[in-house]
Amino acid sequence: MHGHDLSPSTLAVGAGRPDRVPGGPLNAPITLASALVPGGASEYGRHGNPTWDSFETVLGALEGGRALAFASGIAATTALIDLVPLHAAVVAPRHAYYGTVAQLMERDRRGQIELRLVDIDNTQQVIQACQGAAMLWIESPTNPALEIADIETIARAATTAGAAVAVDNTFATPLRQRPLDLGADFVVHSASKLLSGHGDVILGAIVTDDDRAYAALEKRRTMLGAIPGALETFLAARGIRTLHVRLDRAEANARELHRRLSASDQISHSRYPGFGTIIAFEVVGGAVIAQKITEQSDIITYATSLGGVESTWERRRRHPGEPESVPEGLIRFSVGIEDVEDLWNDIQNVLASVS
Ligand SMILES: *Cc1c(COP(=O)(O)O)cnc(C)c1O
Repeated sequence: MHGHDLSPSTLAVGAGRPDRVPGGPLNAPITLASALVPGGASEYGRHGNPTWDSFETVLGALEGGRALAFASGIAATTALIDLVPLHAAVVAPRHAYYGTVAQLMERDRRGQIELRLVDIDNTQQVIQACQGAAMLWIESPTNPALEIADIETIARAATTAGAAVAVDNTFATPLRQRPLDLGADFVVHSASKLLSGHGDVILGAIVTDDDRAYAALEKRRTMLGAIPGALETFLAARGIRTLHVRLDRAEANARELHRRLSASDQISHSRYPGFGTIIAFEVVGGAVIAQKITEQSDIITYATSLGGVESTWERRRRHPGEPESVPEGLIRFSVGIEDVEDLWNDIQNVLASVS
C-alpha cells in the first residue's frame, strides 16, 4: 500500500494484506510451519513466519516504523531491556504496568541495572533522572493511575542525555499517540489489549524506525525464542482491522461514563485522560465496597486485562504486586462497546445494591 498519504483507518483495514493474486486469499493465511522452503525470508519457524509479517506490516504502518512481534507484551519488554548495557541506569514510571516494574526491580536487585523510579508526569524530575541513564522507559497513560507524560519534552531531554527512549503505547494505541513522531526510539505494545481487542490473544510487539536497532531486536527474538504463534498474529492483525471503529465507540462510552461517575457521591476522583478506553475511579466506601461493586455487576465483567469489546473492571490492589501508592479502593474500568445506557444502568444498580 502507498504509505504516508493514507489515513490511519485506511491503513488499519488495508496494510499487511497479501498481494492480490487470482484465487488467493484477501487475508494472510495462518501458516503453521517449523520448516520453510529455503531461499525466502526465513527457513525456520523461530526465525520468521509469513503470518507474523502481516501483523507486523499493519502495526508498523500505523506507528510509522518497522514492527517485530513477540510472544507477549512482557516478552517484547524483556527483549528491549536486555539491550541495556550491564549496570547502566534505566528511568521508569513508578506506576507503569506492574509486570514491567517488577522485571526492572528484579534486574536492579540482581545488580544488572540501576533502576530510577520517577513520577512520569513530573517532567523536571524525569529530566533530572535521565542524566547518565541508558534508557528512559515511558508509559503514558500509566496503568492504572492514568498519569500523562509530556512525551515530547522528556524524550528530547533523554536523547540529549544519551538515553534511548521507549514508550509503552498499549493504552493510547497508534491511533491516539505516535511516540516515534514525538522523539521516541521504540514503541512497545501489549497486543493482548486494544490491538487484538477481543480478549482471546496474548501477544506483544516492538516498533522502531532505526534499522540497526530493528536488526538487533530481531536477532534477540531469535536468540531468546520468545516468538509469537501464527494464530495469535493472525487474530491480532484481524483485530487491528476494526481498531478505529472499536476505539471511537469505546472512547465515546468512556467519556460519558466518566462524566456520570464524576457526579456520583459514592465515587471520588474519577480519572479519564480525555482519550482511550480506561477509566480509574475510587470508591468512597473503600476497598471492601469497591471489591463488592466489581464482583456484583451484571453486564460489566469482573476480570483483569483490558481493551476488549466487552466491559471489564477490577480493584487493582487485589493484586499483591500493585504498588501501595495505588489506592485500595481504586477500580480500573476497561470500557467496551456495549450500549452506554445499559452500562450506566448496570453501574447504578450495583452502586445502589452496595450502599
Ligand atoms: C498488559 C500490559 C503489559 C503486558 O503485556 P502482556 O501481553 O500481558 O505480556 C504491558 N504494558 C501494559 C500497559 C499492559 O497493560
